[in-house]
Parts: sequence; C-alpha cells; structure tokens
Amino acid sequence: MSVLPYPPLHKAAKFVVLSDWDGTITNMDSNDYLTDNLGFGKDKRRQMNLEVLHGEATFRDNFKLMLDSVPTPFAEAAQILSDNIKLDPGFKSFYEYCKANGIPVIIVSSGMEPLIRAVLGRLIGEEEAQKIEIIANGVKFTDEAQKGETWEIVFRHPESGFGHDKSKAILPYADLPNPPTLFFLGDGVSDLSAAKHADLLFVKDKLDGENDLADYCIKEGIKHKMFVSFDDALVDLKSVVEGKRTVAEVLAQ
Ligand SMILES: [Mg+2]
Repeated sequence: MSVLPYPPLHKAAKFVVLSDWDGTITNMDSNDYLTDNLGFGKDKRRQMNLEVLHGEATFRDNFKLMLDSVPTPFAEAAQILSDNIKLDPGFKSFYEYCKANGIPVIIVSSGMEPLIRAVLGRLIGEEEAQKIEIIANGVKFTDEAQKGETWEIVFRHPESGFGHDKSKAILPYADLPNPPTLFFLGDGVSDLSAAKHADLLFVKDKLDGENDLADYCIKEGIKHKMFVSFDDALVDLKSVVEGKRTVAEVLAQ
C-alpha cells in the first residue's frame, strides 16, 4: 500500500504520458548530485549503486543512506539543486503541447516531490511547477521546529525494496475499461517495474553511455524507442496523437 496519496486517474483521457524525473527530464541525477557534493561523496555512492545492481542491498535502503549523509537543511538543498541541475530543454514544449491537447503529463519519480517542484519551476514557471502531477516519494522534517534543518525521505511504498514501485502508477491505467495509449519515458533501474506496461516506451539515450533501462529492454526483448531529447520524443508522440503513425510504426523505426 501507499503511505502517500495518488492523484485521481484521468479516466477519460485518450493518451497519458508518464515520465521519470532524474536523468530523464533532468540531465543529471539530482540525488546523486546531493550525495556527491554535500554528502559522503561519489566513491561511496558508486559503491552503493553497485551493491544494488548486484542484489547485495535494496535500492530503498542504500538510497536512504545516501540521503542521510547530506547534512544540508532542506531549503538550502532545494536551492542548490535549482541552481545546478540542468533540464532537458525540450521538456517545456513537450509539456505545452500535451497541455494544449488535453494529454495528462505525470512525473513518476523515486526522488522527493518538493525538490522536483523547486527545480522544475525554473523551466516551466512556478505556477505550472506547482500544478503538474507528481507521483514521487515525500520528505519529513525531523527537527523540533519543523523547519527542515534536518530531514529524511518518506518512501511511498516502504514495504518495497524500490521504496516507490512505479508500476503502481501505470497499471491502474492499463486496467481501465477503455485504457488510454500510455507513453512512458525513462532511463534507469527505477523505471524497470513500469517499463513493460507502457504502450510506447521511450528510453533516454545517455551521452555518457550508461543506460541501464536500454540494456534491460534489449535483454528482456521489450520494444522501445530511443530518444536524445524531449524534442525527439515530441515528434513521435505528435505523430501518434495526430493519427499519422501507429505506436507499432513508431517502435519499428
Ligand atoms: Mg532516472
């Protein structure tokens, strides 16, 4: 069960977009940034990532240890991310096209919702950043005054080794009597559980060559379309929405 609420389903939508945040809409993982620069540093963080990849620890437990190593007050951490994290510049026009055409865009993330809104405000404006639907983890302020001098992550699915099981955001759409065409955009391990449930899966082509989701899809035979920026994804999404190509045709190219 989820300890955090879900937004209501868009039951009448013909198309729904769900997108990962870190490494997909952002060009750099914001939690890695916090850990590497303010917490215990990159070497230990990398070692803990590998433990998760090798099945020696859960994502949930190691992710919490990484964030616990960051001593910075929450508001300050939000400001540092907002100043330093770069976003895919194509996301703005992608989001605006979807909005103008009644296509819900939902961010599905293992990060913390307030940090996502703080960073997003710079790209799409504060008002839109407060309105956009985000299904993510939360944060709890642990200092007495509740000001966020100290804080910890609140996992959406504390019983899951992922902390947030993203399939629970996408499956209710697939189970509707008239399911919408589901687009999912992602890049990494946190997207594995949701990836196979999308009608059209977009996998971000990372310039550093590290692409865990692409490797997984190839291994598992999951059809997907690579994209470098949201501008590319918008071309494909538009062609499906406007009936110029089918999902199968986009996946075949
Ligand atoms: Mg990611």
